[in-house]
Formats: sequence, C-alpha cells, structure tokens
Amino acid sequence: MTDEKPQPVSPEMLESLRAASNNRVQSAKIRDAVLTIIVDASGLDPDARAGVERSLRAATLSLRDVRDVRIAMTAEKAVKPAGPRIIAVGSGKGGVGKSTLSVNLAVALAKAGLRVGMVDADVYGPSLPRLLSSEDVKPRAEDNKLIPVPNGYGVPMLSMGHLIAPGQAIAWRGPMAGNALGQLVDADWRGTDILVIDLPPGTGDVQLTMISKHKPFGAVIVSTPQDLALMDATRAINLFETAGVPIIGLVENMSGYACPHCGEVSEPFGQGGAEAAAAAMKLDFLGRVPLDIAVRRASDAGTPPAAGTDAEAAPFAAIAERVAAWIRARD
Ligand code: ADP
Repeated sequence: MTDEKPQPVSPEMLESLRAASNNRVQSAKIRDAVLTIIVDASGLDPDARAGVERSLRAATLSLRDVRDVRIAMTAEKAVKPAGPRIIAVGSGKGGVGKSTLSVNLAVALAKAGLRVGMVDADVYGPSLPRLLSSEDVKPRAEDNKLIPVPNGYGVPMLSMGHLIAPGQAIAWRGPMAGNALGQLVDADWRGTDILVIDLPPGTGDVQLTMISKHKPFGAVIVSTPQDLALMDATRAINLFETAGVPIIGLVENMSGYACPHCGEVSEPFGQGGAEAAAAAMKLDFLGRVPLDIAVRRASDAGTPPAAGTDAEAAPFAAIAERVAAWIRARD
C-alpha cells in the first residue's frame, strides 16, 4: 500500500494546461503518473466542454511523466440555494458493503435525532430502494423538483434506480449520470439537514465529477480488512483529497466473522487493517462492523439492522455518533 498523496503539478505545467483550456483549469494534481485535472465548465455547452477536454488531452500527450489523464468538469451554479450538508460514502471498489453502511449510517443518524435524507448515486447497482423497502414507490415531481420517497425509517430517499429501468444502469456514461445525480441532489430536500450520498464504487471520472460538482461537506470511506481493498480505499481517499473534500474517517466492514451459532468472532480476513491504514494516513477511524449473517438477512429483507435494538445495531450507532460529532464540530 502506498500513502503517497496527489502532488500539485509544476507551475509551468499548470500554466500550459490553463493556456490549453482558455483558463478553465481549477487544479491539476499528479500521483503515480496519473494526472487529474479539475475544469470549471460553467457556461459551456456540451460541444465547448468536449473542445476543452480535447485540447487538454492534446496538451498532455507529450508529457513524459504522465501515463493517464483524468478530467472532471464542474460547473458553479449561479445561485446555490442553501441545501442540506452532503456526507458522501465512498469505496475504492464494489462489494465492500458501502450501500449497507450508507443506509445504516443514515438510519442511525436519524435515530439519534438528526434530519437525514439519502441519495443513491450508484449508477452501476442502485440498491437503496430494496434496502429501505421502497422498491415499488416512485417519486413525484412538483415545480420541476423531485419529492423524496418516504419510508418507515425516517430517511426520505431518492435513487438512480427511480430514474432508470432495472438492468439499464450499466449503459450510463459520465454526463448522463452527472445530470441524473443533479436531479436527485437538487430535489425538494426541505426539512433535511444532512444528505447521505451512496456513491458508485471506484475512483474514476464519474466519481470525481460527482464529488467535484456537489462538494460534499465530508466523506466516509468504507473498506474491508483485506490489503487489496485497502489499496483501493487509498485511491478513494486520494480522490476526495484531490477534490478538496475533507475525510471524516474510515470504516472497516466485514471485520471479523460473528458465528451465528456460538457468537464467537473469528478473523477470516485478518482484522485491524483499516485502523492501521487510517493511523498511517492520519485519518480518524470511525469503527468496525463485523461480518454478521444477521446484517445480510436484515438488509435483504429491507429492514436496516441499525433501525432495530439487536446487537447488530450497535456498531452503526457508534459510527453514526462519531460522524455526528464531526459534523457538530464544524457547524
Ligand atoms: P457495496 O455497496 O460496497 O457494493 P453492499 O452494501 O451491496 O456492498 O454489500 C454487498 C453484500 O454484502 C450484500 O449482500 C450485503 O448484505 C452484504 N454485507 C455488507 N456488509 C455486511 C456485513 N457487515 N455482514 C454481512 N453481510 C454484509
């Protein structure tokens, strides 16, 4: 695992990128020969954006130290109404329990008395309607704004799954995903102070554009204890840092296996990897959630474990308390 952070490019390189983009480059950082450029695309139509992207790519072709280039287009909105604070939940790869953690974090925050909503931005596999038992409910729109779908857990929610037919998500590309997310985030969130966003897994252009555009207040990273997942988590951390989003901390999911028969906890993947990684990167460790069949069963049944009073609710309540404290300290 490397904890090398993205480094700003040299002033000369920044100057030439700015020249190639009509002064649209906001920042450019490089890590492991991958150059990440954030472009202010406000006021540009799709053709003009494509033109800026083309000339930036052309300008980087001759750079010897650059193996790959990522370009995120963000557009400042003219007047951004005061909306809820966004807490983004990300992971370097799929299957680590990001959606499970997002839902249960939101439910636990609501149980603690905060006014929480959720957005399921996972284009590749929107799962929140199932996790919150609202699969058959479609959101209404009023005055061109979507009205979030209520549920029995006090966490109104909107999902990419509400906008697309099942099975079509994978065909979505960056700009479409970005526009859809815009509709979900700019919905009628009156009465909501905190919006938990379940991001798509991974650290590509789709994620970078989403977080650069919607500027989350803070981010939570989910990882399993395996080294590979931690390496992926490091990429997710770098992604948020590149976009200037503060990281609230790291959660270790599937940490230790709780035997459903005797209750004994064993460590099939090892334990403490995420905590050690958090310490090495000077990030807060928010807690661990054991691999527990009760979590999977409750999730599949659309009853988030955090909503109950059984033992499986406790880790989520503890993580939510740390996240709430982080938010309070910055409000
Ligand atoms: P991701 O959003 O990262 O792709 P999910 O939240 O969809 O991952 O979780 C993947 C699968 O693992 C789901 O079936 C979920 O119920 C299960 N799962 C997640 N966390 C746990 C856990 N702590 N214990 C048991 N099963 C879990």
